[in-house]
Amino acid sequence: MRSAWDPWLDLSTRRHIVFELDRIAKIGGGALYARRGAHAAIVIDPDLSSRDQRAALAHELVHDERGGIADHGGAPGTWTAVVRREERTVDAIAAQRLVPLDQLEDWARRRSTIGPILLVDVADEFDVPDRVALVAVGQLRQRPRGGKGVGPNPDHPQAP
Ligand SMILES: [Zn+2]
Repeated sequence: MRSAWDPWLDLSTRRHIVFELDRIAKIGGGALYARRGAHAAIVIDPDLSSRDQRAALAHELVHDERGGIADHGGAPGTWTAVVRREERTVDAIAAQRLVPLDQLEDWARRRSTIGPILLVDVADEFDVPDRVALVAVGQLRQRPRGGKGVGPNPDHPQAP
C-alpha cells in the first residue's frame, strides 16, 4: 500500500526541474539538488535501488518547495546547525508524504492483530527505506491521541 503521492508523477509536473540519473550524485550521498533563479536540477544516483531513488526524489522535491538551504565549506557553525535542522524538517515532510500517518495508523491497527510489527514491515508496506519508516513511526508515536478513531493508549490511560 503505497502512499497516494507519487514523487515521480509530482516531478513530471514541475517543469522548472531538470532531472538526471547520474553517478555524480554520490557526492551528495545519493542525490543532489541545485537551484539557480527559476530553474532547478535534481540528480539521483542510478546505483540506488528504486525504493531509495523514490525516497531521495521525495526529499529533493521538498527541498525544491522550501527553497534549498545548502551547506558549504567554511560556513559558520550556526549555519551548519540551520542546515541540519532544515534537513530534519525536509525528512519529516517527505516521510509524511511517503507514509501518510492516517494510512500508517490504519494499517498498523489491522496488522497488529497478527503479530508484532517490525520496522522492515512498515518499510515493505509503504515501499520506503528503513530510515524513512523510522521517521514515520516516530511521527506516529508523537501524534496526539484521540484523533481519528484512535483508541485509548494503554501506556497513557486517559483521565476519567
Ligand atoms: Zn536534503
